[in-house]
Amino acid sequence: MFNFDFHNPTHIAFGKGRVADLAKLVPASAKVLILVGGASAEKTGTLAEVRSALGERAHSTFAGIEPNPGFDTAMQAVNQIRSEGFDFLLAVGGGSVIDATKFIAAAVPFEGDPWTILLKGGRNIQSALPFGAVLTLPATGSEMNNGGVITRRDMGAKLPFRSSHVFPRFAVLDPTKTYTLPVQQLANGVVDAFVHTVEQYLTYPSHAPVQDRFAEGLLQTLVEVGPRLLDAKEPVYDDRATLMWAATLALNGLIGAGVPQDWSTHMIGHELTALHNIDHARTLAIVLPAMLHERRVQKRDKLLQYGQRVWGIRSGTEDERIAAAIENTRTFFEHMGIPTRLRDYGLDASVVSAVVAQLESHGMTQLGEHRDIDLAVSRRVLEAAL
Ligand code: NAP
Ligand code: FE
Repeated sequence: MFNFDFHNPTHIAFGKGRVADLAKLVPASAKVLILVGGASAEKTGTLAEVRSALGERAHSTFAGIEPNPGFDTAMQAVNQIRSEGFDFLLAVGGGSVIDATKFIAAAVPFEGDPWTILLKGGRNIQSALPFGAVLTLPATGSEMNNGGVITRRDMGAKLPFRSSHVFPRFAVLDPTKTYTLPVQQLANGVVDAFVHTVEQYLTYPSHAPVQDRFAEGLLQTLVEVGPRLLDAKEPVYDDRATLMWAATLALNGLIGAGVPQDWSTHMIGHELTALHNIDHARTLAIVLPAMLHERRVQKRDKLLQYGQRVWGIRSGTEDERIAAAIENTRTFFEHMGIPTRLRDYGLDASVVSAVVAQLESHGMTQLGEHRDIDLAVSRRVLEAAL
């Protein structure tokens, strides 16, 4: 096990009816800017519930944060906050709204051009406004971590940042808030949480059995609950709660502490979203099976462990078991209604060079747990994903 720091200050308020707890969680004297996406928070009634829980506090709403949140939209919020003097932010939505709120919280006090926050991956963030989150889409783990991803559409760039200053102060996780999700977003959530877990688990053995078992438990749970979530005629509370907590735990630092981490699938996936506007989780479902196949030598021991412990694969030669583990992963994504080939999204071989050029321009030339996924390897992965 590697040395690590584990510090996660986010207070989780989990369960039915917990939006009312905003009355206690948000400082009484705060001047609050609520941030939301498109129409969902308003339509579902969550926004009204949030406003009512804020009671007498001064508050206003910034709407229009788009999926894969844009730098320009975030900067509009930054300008409004600077001119109107809000001192507490409240994200109400999925990963996009929470990520944007993190960026905005850091950009408001930032001296200089906030774009450099993304060029430096957040290393230049010195402070941030305090903020909390009301999660409406379990998927990203953003509600309990210190990372975010912002898109600059004029440049075709989708860049990650991270800083200890951008942990949410609290996150309200009410599973009933997921009841209005379209089935496609539920499936996206399962697959995003699954791939977050895989990127921190399926690397090389590092003598970290606790982290391994946590990760395997999350993967098995997602495999179990995923199809049930899609098939249910009516939302089942405990299954929604299971997905919500699994997605949070998949990326709150716990399973990644002291172990090697990959993230190559995410970095290549971000370029696919930036260029072709494919949902985040869908890009992961395209890249991961091809990546695991390409890295089957470097990941050999963990692929065998994954096959046995997550999928119960015990027979066949080692190579056959590895192939079956990768195939099961692909089939799981497909069963979740998420196609796993670039051609399924109307893309052909011309996409490969375009994505590789973007990876190069964003410095994504040494990816993976061994930092040895260079542009040639990424190209092979994309070709295999066609
Ligand atoms: P999202 O982009 O936040 O939301 C997707 C869609 O779901 C939106 O159209 C939204 O509509 C709708 N929606 C949200 N809650 C709903 C509800 N309760 N009922 C009905 N519709 C609802 O999706 P996401 O998957 O959570 O976030 C994706 C973003 O997070 C990507 O940019 C990805 O790169 C990033 N990400 C971040 C991390 C991290 O650690 N920070 C990790 C992985 C991915 P409205 O806009 O109308 O609200
Ligand atoms: Fe993700």
